[in-house]
Amino acid sequence: MAVPYNRRTHYCGELRASHIGQEVVLAGWAAARRDHGGVVFVDLRDHTGFSQLRFNSDLNRTAYEAAQRFHHEDVIAITGTVAGRGDQVNPRIPTGEIEVIVKQLDVLSPADPLPFQLVEADQAAEEVRLQYRFLDFRRPEIQRVFRLRHQVAHAIRNYFHEHGFVEIETPFLTKSTPEGARDYLVPSRVQPGSFYALPQSPQLFKQLCMIGGFDRYAQIVRCFRDEDLRADRQPEFTQLDMEMAFVQRDDVMNMVEGCVRRVFKDTIGVDLPNPLPRMTEHEAMERFGIDRPDTRYDMELQDITDLARQVDFAPFKDALAAGGIVKCVVAKKADKITRKFIDTLTEDLRGIGAAGLPVTKVATEAGQVSFATGIAKYVTPIRDALCARVGAEPGDIIFFMPGRFADVCKYLYTVRTRLATALDVIPPNRWNMLWIVDFPLVTFDDQEQRWVSTHHPFTAPLDEDVPLLDTDPGRVRDQAYDLVLNGSEIAGGSIRIHRRDVQQKIFSLLGISPEEAHAKFEFLLEALRLGAPPHGGIAFGLDRWVMLMSGAESLRDVIAFPKTQRATCPLTGAPTPVAAAQLNELGLLLKPSAQPPPQA
Ligand code: ASP
Repeated sequence: MAVPYNRRTHYCGELRASHIGQEVVLAGWAAARRDHGGVVFVDLRDHTGFSQLRFNSDLNRTAYEAAQRFHHEDVIAITGTVAGRGDQVNPRIPTGEIEVIVKQLDVLSPADPLPFQLVEADQAAEEVRLQYRFLDFRRPEIQRVFRLRHQVAHAIRNYFHEHGFVEIETPFLTKSTPEGARDYLVPSRVQPGSFYALPQSPQLFKQLCMIGGFDRYAQIVRCFRDEDLRADRQPEFTQLDMEMAFVQRDDVMNMVEGCVRRVFKDTIGVDLPNPLPRMTEHEAMERFGIDRPDTRYDMELQDITDLARQVDFAPFKDALAAGGIVKCVVAKKADKITRKFIDTLTEDLRGIGAAGLPVTKVATEAGQVSFATGIAKYVTPIRDALCARVGAEPGDIIFFMPGRFADVCKYLYTVRTRLATALDVIPPNRWNMLWIVDFPLVTFDDQEQRWVSTHHPFTAPLDEDVPLLDTDPGRVRDQAYDLVLNGSEIAGGSIRIHRRDVQQKIFSLLGISPEEAHAKFEFLLEALRLGAPPHGGIAFGLDRWVMLMSGAESLRDVIAFPKTQRATCPLTGAPTPVAAAQLNELGLLLKPSAQPPPQA
C-alpha cells in the first residue's frame, strides 16, 4: 500500500512532545542522513522545518535499506509513530523532543547530486544559486524572506481595501510613461515599425483613474526600467502605487503613514513614531549632503565657511573665491581610521570628481590640543575656534571639503557613509523613517543645458511659488514628498498638476515643445480639459522596502527570480536570440553589430 502523501497529517516542523504516540503521515525532502548500523536517522524537511525520522532495521528492513541509500533531497513520504527521544533530546530545534519511527516509506522522486549543498549555500556562487533558484528556495532563510514579502503585500492590500481604495490593473503594453529612465520596447506585429513600451510606472493611468472618478486607487504592480548597470537595480521591480482625489499633501502623507505603521506592526512587530518626522530637502542636504539621509547616526556635515576665510590654504581660497563653501565631517575617536582608509577614500572621491580630501587629526601636544598630519599647519591658526565649532577633540579626525554646495554635499555624503561603516556607528535594529519635503520643482542640468524635473513633469509646484515659474524657476519648490528609511528612499510621490494650463507651462519650462507634448501626452492634456479633480499619490519601491525589513543585502535576495547585473535571467538564460522567422514577422532586421553569438 502506498503512503497517502496527499493526506499528510502534519508538516515536518510541527511535531512536539504532545504528539508522542500518534500515527503520522509526513512528506518532504530527505535533508540529512546518519547511519548508525541497524538504525538510520534522516532529517525530513519541508517549508516549516524538519523532523528526525528513525528507520529501524528490525521494523521494516526494506525501508531501512532504502534509507541507507538516500541522496540529499530525495522526495519521500512516510507513515510512522511519534516517539520521545529519551536522553537524546535536542533543545536547540523545535522538534528536538521527538522522532518518528518509520513504518512505511515511499521514495516519490529520487534526486541527483546537487549543484550546491543547501546547508553550505552561502559558499556557493550567487550565479549558481540563482540558476538553481528552486533549490535556493528550499533553504529556511530564503523561505522566510518570501513569506515576509507576502505578509507585507497582504497587510498593504488589507489596509488600502479598508480605506476604500480600488485595485485597478493598468496596462503593461503601453506608451512610454517618462520617469527618467530608458523604456523596454515591445515591437508590434500587427503594426510593423510601431512599438509598445513596458511601463516605468502607472503614473498617467492612475491619474486618469482619478479623473475618471475612482477617488482612491492602489495597485501592487510590476514596473520596468532599462537602466544602466548600476549595483542593485533590477530591470523589473515592484511598486506599491497609489493615488487619491480631492486631497492635499498632508492627506496623502497621513494615509501612507497609516499604511507603513500597519505593515511594520503586523509583520515585524515594530512601532513607528506617529507622526513620522519631516525634513525639508534643503535641511537634508545641509546636514547630511543627501536627500535621503540616514539619521541613525550623527557625524553631520558642518559649515565652516566663515572660519575657512582666515585660512591660507589654496583649495579653500579657490573655492571661496568662486563663491563656494567649506564644510567638514568629524570622525570621533577615529583610531580605527588608517592612512590606507583615507588614501582609498581620497582616490574614490577623485573618481567622482573631487580634487582631494584635506584632513587633519586632533591630537595633544604638551597637554594642549593640537593638529597633527594632513593640513595641520594651514588650519592651526583657527584651531580653537574650529574645534569649538565642530566639537572636535583629541583622537578625532576632521575631513574637509571646499567647493560648490552641490559638490561638497556629494563628496562629504560619501565620506560620512564610509566613515559610518568603518567606525561601526550604525546602531542595529533601528528604523529611522522620515519624510523629505519641499524639493526644488526643477534643477538645471549643466550637461543638457536645460531644466529637468526633480521628480517628474506631473508634479505640482507649491501654490505660493507659482509666480516664480516665470521669473526664477530654480527657486520653485514642489509638492512632492519622499519617504526615507535608514538612508534609502523607499517611496516618492506628489500632488499632481490638475490644470491643463499649468501642465502646459511646466512642459514648456522643461523644453518640451507643444508638438512633442501633443505627440506624447495628448491623452493627458485632453483629460485635464474634461474635469480633473485635484489629486496626488505616491509609489513605493516594494522590493527595497522588503529588503530593508528582512535585513537582506541585495534586491536580488527579495525578488523570487531576479536578473543579474547584466540584466540576464540566470535560470532561463533570457534574453536569448529569436528565430529569423519571428524577426521577419515583426518587420525587424538586426544590424550586423547586433548579431547574437552563434548558439553552442
Ligand atoms: N510614478 C512615480 C514613480 O514611479 C511615483 C509617483 O509620483 O507616484 O517614481
